[in-house]
Amino acid sequence: MPRKTYSTPSLPKELTREIAATIEGHPETGYSSVSDFCRDAVRRRLDEIKKEEGDKRFAHINVYDDHVTIADRDQVKFVNVYFKESGKPFCDLDETTDCDHVKYALHLPEVREAYKRKGLLLPPLSDKK
Ligand SMILES: [Zn+2]
Repeated sequence: MPRKTYSTPSLPKELTREIAATIEGHPETGYSSVSDFCRDAVRRRLDEIKKEEGDKRFAHINVYDDHVTIADRDQVKFVNVYFKESGKPFCDLDETTDCDHVKYALHLPEVREAYKRKGLLLPPLSDKK
């Protein structure tokens, strides 16, 4: 990838050494470099923050056989997200498989359980890289 698409945040050398030692001591984690580790760690933290935001905005009401009902405090509405055989859940408000309601629904353990019960393929929690 061209360099122009990257930026270089700074880390204290001690932390960089600790990351390198951790990668070396734990090859099973699959990290190929300090950068690889940092990208994954930052992505996970961003996902946590998004999930916390979602937890404030949305409330999980109930899981049914083929959908989950979510209360959206921003829009003062109930939204249904339907489980689809094809993979990604479908939001009946936005009529899409890729909105904040779908992302919130996918983080709910009850929804992930329902997917497994129905034998449907679980979509990944977030897009990688
Ligand atoms: Zn939606």
